[in-house]
Amino acid sequence: MKLQRHRFQILPAVVLAACVPVAFAQKPAQTPPPQTPPAPTTPQSQPAPATTSTVQLPTTLPGTPQSTPPVPSPRAFATVTKDAEEHNGFFTLFEKDDRVLLELKPEQLNKPYYLSINRTGGLGENFIYPFMMRGYIVEFRKVGGLVQMIAKNTRYRAQEGTPLALAAQQSFADSLLGSAPVVSEPHPETKAILVDANALLIADIAGTATELEAAYHAPYAFDQRNSSFTKVRATADMATFAVSAHFAMPKIPAPSNNNNPNAPTLPGTLEDARSMFLGYHYSLAKLPDQPMRVRKADARVGHFVSRQYEFTSDIAPFPRQYMVNRWRLEKKDPTAALSEPKEPIVFWLDRNIPVEYRDTVKAGVLEWNKAFEKIGFKDAVRVEMQPNDADFDTADLRHASIKWYLDTSDGALAIGPRRVDPRTGEILDADIAISQGWTRLPRRLAGEQFPKPMPRAAHSNDEGTLCEYGAESFNEAAFAAGLLEARGELDPSSPEAEAIVKATLKDVVTHEVGHTLGLRHNFRASTIYTEEQISDPEFTRKHGIGGSVMDYNAWNIALDKERQGEYVMSTLGPYDYWAIEYAYREIPADKESQELSRIASRSNEPQLAFATDEETGIGIEAADPEVNQRDIGHDPLVFAQRRMTLSRELWDRWQDRKLPDGEGRDVLYRNVVSGFSQYSLAAQVAAKYVGGVVYVRDHAGSPRASFTPISPERQRQALKLVTDGLFQVDSFKFKPEFLTRVAADPFEAGVGERASFTLPARVLAVQTQVLDRLMSDAVAQRLLDSSFKIEGGKKGLTLADLYDTLQGSIWSDLKGTGDIPLMRRNLQREHVRRVTFMLTRANGTPADARALQRENTKTLVTQLRAAEKRPGLSKEARAHVADARDTLEEALKAPMQRVGI
Ligand SMILES: [Zn+2]
Repeated sequence: MKLQRHRFQILPAVVLAACVPVAFAQKPAQTPPPQTPPAPTTPQSQPAPATTSTVQLPTTLPGTPQSTPPVPSPRAFATVTKDAEEHNGFFTLFEKDDRVLLELKPEQLNKPYYLSINRTGGLGENFIYPFMMRGYIVEFRKVGGLVQMIAKNTRYRAQEGTPLALAAQQSFADSLLGSAPVVSEPHPETKAILVDANALLIADIAGTATELEAAYHAPYAFDQRNSSFTKVRATADMATFAVSAHFAMPKIPAPSNNNNPNAPTLPGTLEDARSMFLGYHYSLAKLPDQPMRVRKADARVGHFVSRQYEFTSDIAPFPRQYMVNRWRLEKKDPTAALSEPKEPIVFWLDRNIPVEYRDTVKAGVLEWNKAFEKIGFKDAVRVEMQPNDADFDTADLRHASIKWYLDTSDGALAIGPRRVDPRTGEILDADIAISQGWTRLPRRLAGEQFPKPMPRAAHSNDEGTLCEYGAESFNEAAFAAGLLEARGELDPSSPEAEAIVKATLKDVVTHEVGHTLGLRHNFRASTIYTEEQISDPEFTRKHGIGGSVMDYNAWNIALDKERQGEYVMSTLGPYDYWAIEYAYREIPADKESQELSRIASRSNEPQLAFATDEETGIGIEAADPEVNQRDIGHDPLVFAQRRMTLSRELWDRWQDRKLPDGEGRDVLYRNVVSGFSQYSLAAQVAAKYVGGVVYVRDHAGSPRASFTPISPERQRQALKLVTDGLFQVDSFKFKPEFLTRVAADPFEAGVGERASFTLPARVLAVQTQVLDRLMSDAVAQRLLDSSFKIEGGKKGLTLADLYDTLQGSIWSDLKGTGDIPLMRRNLQREHVRRVTFMLTRANGTPADARALQRENTKTLVTQLRAAEKRPGLSKEARAHVADARDTLEEALKAPMQRVGI
């Protein structure tokens, strides 16, 4: 399942709110849905262009409803601008009362400009945040009494002046973003005309109505009458427009009490949910006079790319070309080994960043200068502080920025989006947004109330999409802090805690700035250093804890009494230097191709290990156990084992801890739950080894194969870790008197049953996640296929091995003498459900997998029949055994049906 990454320039915020969870969510169960609560459903919204049925058409089209004034007959230029305030600039603006006129000189028509849109006022929830949104190449076209603002389609092209250029133009359409009446006669000398900027820009160009519909299923619409400009500005190379945009619905939909997932919900942060004012900032700017020289992308190094269809030559097998997204960086003195750039990359710290964190943020940005220095640039990246009385908004196109935002979710999110000239890949602007959660998280110790999953944000290699560096970090930080507190190694009010907050924040800033420099994630980088190395504080201070700041590195937590390295990544890794070199090293044009392939061909060096979002995948599709978000150390299987150990330590310590009188017991709840989330992460990392395949992007000439199945020994080790660590009852031992005191905070959870902690349900949730993977078609298929990829007739882990091991472990009680406890019965029931599903489903299950399960089921039925008569079973266990036997016998007899898909 793949996002249509290249095809659409998706509205980033719509992606955030809706598309990605769909794209990245676990594949719909091919095994029957477990009885654990389903993942929150997410509305399936299509990538939405600015005009869809739910978005107002550009309200300025003649004949559309809403407040379009009739096109007035133009009056003399001087008459129209009389008494108006003139903002002189590249685009001159005239402002009078609440109206703004945009002057267009004849030479400004039919020329490309950049229109960028940021949201500057949000809702504080549901991804309606003040984030960078998207950008367009626009042209103004005069059609009769109207000026149209056209979004130019620049992605499909052929060499100017050739027949194919004409064909490209005829084959791919432009779009209309808005239009406005011409309100003046041409200026007598300059021939400039004036257009109504209110009509042009006070509109829902960003498609927020669709975003709101996706988020709330409520019929919010843009209301032009109550929307207005709040500030306009003209500079030597752009005009900016700040808009207060009103969205409303006439009435709140009546509540519906069914379980319709599409039933309307309402924003929780509004005083009156029928109405909201959101803020938008438009920059209409000059494009670079001289387009930047394109740098060809190489898939072995992780850069964001712009994709263009270049049809000129039909010798290439495909017309698609990939250009690295990068800033224009040129040496002042090209002959010097180390030179300042002609123009540095400047990041502005927004005035909304709390004073006490500004130095940390600055340090996080400037960390990148180490990589630029290595390729001959001195002070390539600089930091400026936005003055409190600054006239500009950092949302504009000329100020790359870092900004804080607040929301009501308890997680921590940070994003690093960019604006790119789609013709060349040149990065024009970037506005990083960092949630305040980052500075609370590590200090919050036992974490927040619930491990509420943060909605996943977008990752793609298109410009305009976002990075999320927060989803699991919430659990991660809570876990680490809870453990350190319980060990007595960290006091939340100590300077050490403050230092950890700042170290975490610096890491986040460096990661996000990395995205805005054009770098994608690298989720294999965490594997380059040994466990020994990352436990050495001196080593980690020098080298960090992994190969890249573009990984989501897990907190580096030592086992009890072990040596402790740095907790978080404190500097760039070798991969980061390499990726910057590929994108930014100055290379003479005639040597570029050769030099770039030399740089990229280093991809098989162990220190440069790389794999990005596509390789990580989510859930069952993910096949490469070396590529994980939030792991650390050379061997992810060792990481998994250590995390299980740390989770048990966390649980044990909190069980033994006497809370001071008066302290809320929700701290116990939070720690038990955060232990489970880490245990689950660990189990899933381990399970990826079964049927796992390492995939690298090397080209011919590299000694490494593209696909390398995990060795049978490692697969067996992983399977043993899972069956021992997850399926045995004593994996999850808690004292009853502890469990009866694990209570959530009533303010957050409600009271009574709702605030209670149910151990069997938690355990089952972790178990079923792993069962879903191990009994999936994808893993079955990979194990069946792997026999072709193992050389010399060596015996790999077979599918029969896997199914036998699972069945033997899950039903081991049948061979014993005692009772079958509740948690074992739950697990066995889930196994029966999945087996039944595989046996009775007509399509999907690989034939060999079904045949094996039939065989195994017959054996199991015999064992169940014998066990039914055994003494020592409780009534519940006896009923369970009989029920399982019945169900399996039915499944063996049943004709195959079409179910489940
Ligand atoms: Zn990221």
